[in-house]
Amino acid sequence: MRFAIFGDIHSNLEALEAVLADAKDCGCTHHVCIGDIVGYNANPHECVEIIKGLGCPVVKGNHDEQAHLNGSLEAFNPLADAALRWTRENLTDEDKQWLASLRLIRQVRDFTIVHATLDTPNQWGYVFNQLDAAASFNYQYTNVCFYGHTHAPRAYVRDEAVHHVPLEVLPIEFGKKYFINVGSVGQPRDGDWHASYCIYHADKNLVELRRVEYDINFAQDKVVDAGLPQRLADRLALGS
Ligand code: ZN
Repeated sequence: MRFAIFGDIHSNLEALEAVLADAKDCGCTHHVCIGDIVGYNANPHECVEIIKGLGCPVVKGNHDEQAHLNGSLEAFNPLADAALRWTRENLTDEDKQWLASLRLIRQVRDFTIVHATLDTPNQWGYVFNQLDAAASFNYQYTNVCFYGHTHAPRAYVRDEAVHHVPLEVLPIEFGKKYFINVGSVGQPRDGDWHASYCIYHADKNLVELRRVEYDINFAQDKVVDAGLPQRLADRLALGS
């Protein structure tokens, strides 16, 4: 059993299609989505349709939540705000109802998925360091939990203490807990523009980080053509 685990797609259709093709090439048998399907880029409806079509476990991200609400966007920075307003106008009512139906935390087989944190999942805090990870570990009841939200792939392990470990190929050892950020499909922020996701080789107890090339120029052109801020197109190439 091989899980492709991905999130922070952010309406980037080209990146999503490339990740799904790579997962297929790698022999993935299951899909898992950790939220923020929409926001920032030009194809929110198409990305929702694809994820719905996969019929896989999905948790809600903060952009998914804002996209189905009608209230103000005070918690968002101006770029995210502009993109969310556009996103709301470019989703169907059915898309919004489906986004509204998503849960914040789910258990899938022997692991957990959440978008932001396990300790306060509805407050959308960020896990940037060991201290943040330690707070989530207190609410983690499976050996492994996958999350996103920071758009930077990263892994924390808790044994005697909480520390940061390399993610490229990470063996899951019995008796330890792992909190693993799969990075972002559609808007990576770790300086690498390639789409990011993880493969969980459940039979081998191994997590593998994948970085995937996609047609970034096409995705950027669509952002500009849609009338979204130029900065949103530029940042894709910077991985920021
Ligand atoms: Zn996000």
